[in-house]
Amino acid sequence: MPEKQPRIIVLGAGMAGILAGIRLQHMDYRDVTLYEKADRVGGTWRENTYPGLTCDVPSHFYTYSFERNPDWTRHLPPGPEIQAYFERTAQKYGINALTRFGEECTEAAYRDGRWHLQFASGHRDSADILIAATGVLHHPKYPDIPGAGTFQGALFHSARWDHSVPLEGRRIGIIGNGSTGVQIVSALAGKAALLEHYQRTPQWIMPVENGHFTEAERAAFHDPAVLAQAMNVEEYMASVEAYTQSITDIDSEASQAMAQACRDNLEHSVVDPVLREQLRPDHLPLCKRLVFSPDYYQAIQHPQSRLVSTGIQQIEAAGIRTVDGELHELDVIVFATGFHADAFMRPMAITGRDGVSLADFWHDRPKAYLAVTMPGFPNLFMLNGPNGPVGNFSLIDIAEHQWAYIERLMARLDAGDCTEVEPSLAAMEAFEAERVEAAKRTVWYRGGCVSWYLDAEGIPSSWPWNFQRFVDSMAEPDWAAFGLSPPRAM
Ligand code: NAP
Repeated sequence: MPEKQPRIIVLGAGMAGILAGIRLQHMDYRDVTLYEKADRVGGTWRENTYPGLTCDVPSHFYTYSFERNPDWTRHLPPGPEIQAYFERTAQKYGINALTRFGEECTEAAYRDGRWHLQFASGHRDSADILIAATGVLHHPKYPDIPGAGTFQGALFHSARWDHSVPLEGRRIGIIGNGSTGVQIVSALAGKAALLEHYQRTPQWIMPVENGHFTEAERAAFHDPAVLAQAMNVEEYMASVEAYTQSITDIDSEASQAMAQACRDNLEHSVVDPVLREQLRPDHLPLCKRLVFSPDYYQAIQHPQSRLVSTGIQQIEAAGIRTVDGELHELDVIVFATGFHADAFMRPMAITGRDGVSLADFWHDRPKAYLAVTMPGFPNLFMLNGPNGPVGNFSLIDIAEHQWAYIERLMARLDAGDCTEVEPSLAAMEAFEAERVEAAKRTVWYRGGCVSWYLDAEGIPSSWPWNFQRFVDSMAEPDWAAFGLSPPRAM
């Protein structure tokens, strides 16, 4: 640590921002502030409160590696327990005291070797190092269905759930069958008088167990050795590796096995052959983000549930009219229609060196060297930025690997080896060209579907290689890409 402490600002106090705050304190950085636009920590888990909210990563892996949680009640962590975990962890590590809540950053500009920030409140601040921990899926995407404003019932997006609206005994329409829509339908089946699930494109559903841990199990998990044995990290990491192999090599055994599990699930779980065919996708499993569900097929076969696979023409005062002319009368409509996945730090206006705007740098698509840094934006580090691994595994783990990489970059600033850390344009361009070529070999590109993984040009935006390559890339920076020679051995 140099004598003069660098001023460090972290934007966002969700999972990644809390991680940054904890690690920065651990490293003895003492001039650190987190800014959070909301009134409490939690990010996506604060904003999403829909019925059935669950993370499809096994509970014990959905934590920071240094702060396991023996108290999860279920095999897959329920949303409210995840939010409570982050609030508890933030409290324990003093993150709330470092955070200015209710402050939304609108502009960040790099001038004279520092980042200058402007907030919606009028507040200003500046920093030597800026960490963007602003999340991935946080700007709700509303569908362009005509007539939404005319609906007389309650209508809201899944990420803006209106808990004042009663659901028991009501007629509810859920539009969208990604992970969110499937979880909502599974939670509301049998509770609503009528539950209509509007499906534009069928999804493959991967079966998964989601039992409760017994009290005795939870008590035993307080012994770290018992928890470690129950977690079986090696087996889990092998499954993550198999998952990423399935994405990157559609002919691989792993890919075939996952696809077969989805197909078997459909064949064995759905009784009515007409419904089964309505639910059968025409794209390859894994093309869209795989939906894991222990009970969706049961839920959609409930007597009060109905799958609507006819297209939506418009929303009217009384409900949804489908293109076959039928009016579906409803009391509640939920848009489970996803997010603007390409927003990242936007709409914040970010300006790098020499007045180059992020909007210009991202004119074709969001991109970053190894998902963490960008040329022309010195000393700006991203957690869960563009092109990082996103899938059916823990983003907390991804952020921890990225953080370890950022720590190594920051160490060079502390050591006085440089005053600015940024990759060269050549390194960025070489990485991006290789990434785009690899992306075209993935199931996201070749699987015959569209999804939020694709950018405006139809190129998958997520990490297109296997997990091990990501781990290796984060383990030690390629110093030449940053114009630096390797650090002297300590
Ligand atoms: P999503 O996967 O983007 O799904 C959006 C759904 O809305 C799709 O079914 C889409 O249909 C449909 N849709 C969009 N516009 C429509 C329109 N105009 N008319 C009819 N249907 C329309 O969104 P999401 O389900 O909120 O999930 C987003 C991501 O959040 C997930 O992929 C995952 O990464 C994360 N998530 C994770 C979990 C978890 O358990 N870990 C849970 C929830 C969400 P098409 O398929 O035809 O486009």
